[in-house]
Formats: sequence, C-alpha cells, structure tokens
Amino acid sequence: MPVPYAEPVDEQQDGERGLALPWADGTFPPGTLSARRAVWHDLMGLALHEATHALASDDVPVGALVVSPDGRLLGVGRNRREETGDPTAHAEVLALRQAAASWGRWRLEGCTLVVTLEPCVMCAGALVAARVDRLVVGAWDPKAGATGSVWDLVRDQRSLHAVEVVGGVREDECAAVLQEFFAARRGTAG
Ligand SMILES: [Zn+2]
Repeated sequence: MPVPYAEPVDEQQDGERGLALPWADGTFPPGTLSARRAVWHDLMGLALHEATHALASDDVPVGALVVSPDGRLLGVGRNRREETGDPTAHAEVLALRQAAASWGRWRLEGCTLVVTLEPCVMCAGALVAARVDRLVVGAWDPKAGATGSVWDLVRDQRSLHAVEVVGGVREDECAAVLQEFFAARRGTAG
C-alpha cells in the first residue's frame, strides 16, 4: 500500500525548505504587535483560500497551513474527509504531514500552524505531538474546540508540550465560510 505522504525534497538545504513568503522586514514573526497582526491576517487569508477548495468535494470548509520558524510556507491542508473517506483527513493533520515531509523531520519546533477553525481533540493532540510552538485560530468552535473552547489540550499543564495560542484572527470571515456551507446544506436537505 503506498504511503500517502509527499517525499522530502532532498536537494534543498535545511534553511531553504518550503516556499518563501514576502515578509516586510525579513523576520518572522515581526517584533511589533501591529506587524504581527498584519502577518496573521495575511496568513489567515491563505488558509481561508485553501478552505474554499474543500467545497468542491462537499467537505466542511476548513483550511490550515504551517509556517517554518523563519517564515517559510512548509505545508498546506484542507479538510478532505469526504473526498478521501479518511476520518483523520482534517486540514491541520494534512498540513502537518506536508510540513514534516517538506522539512524532512517530524519535530516542527518553532513552527506556526494557522487554521480557520479551532482544532478538535485529534488535531490539538497532533499539534502537541509535532511540537508546534504557535497556533493561530480564526473561528472558535464552542461545540468541539480543543484549544480553549471545550477543552484546552495545548495549554494543559499535563501536556508534554505547550503551544502559544493566538485567537480570533479574521474570526468573522472564517465563521461566515462555515455558516454559509451549513446553511446551503440545510437548504438542500429540505
Ligand atoms: Zn481536527
């Protein structure tokens, strides 16, 4: 059975893995609060764009991406449960897999994961397992969120690794994408 993960790109040097993103002052994330907010805003825009691709397979539109410690785009993912029939094919898991494959290692220390919807229990566990340092969240999930809403696995003192959480980035836009999806679904269900 083929392994569904991308192979690491061996010819790249460690510092050159992933896709360079145009940061204004060359540091990631920028030191000032306003500059950081602008970066989270832009990255969430990429995650939102990825989320909309899930609509083609009637998957719940959630998008995620992983940025390396030096601000390079290492992985992108969208919810593909319906498309693949895989219960673990959440946006965050797929973005983490791609990031690990492109960096050539499973430890994603110093990395930031950006996602349009608060991670579930599985994805929060994956963030801890991958040693991701920062999570940027769009909309909160009061029913199943596991990074602050229902549970908080990434800041639980018993967790092996703590993750900084930046919440509410483009929250209204991220929530609207989901609300439109579920409203349309209710419409077709009659
Ligand atoms: Zn999840």
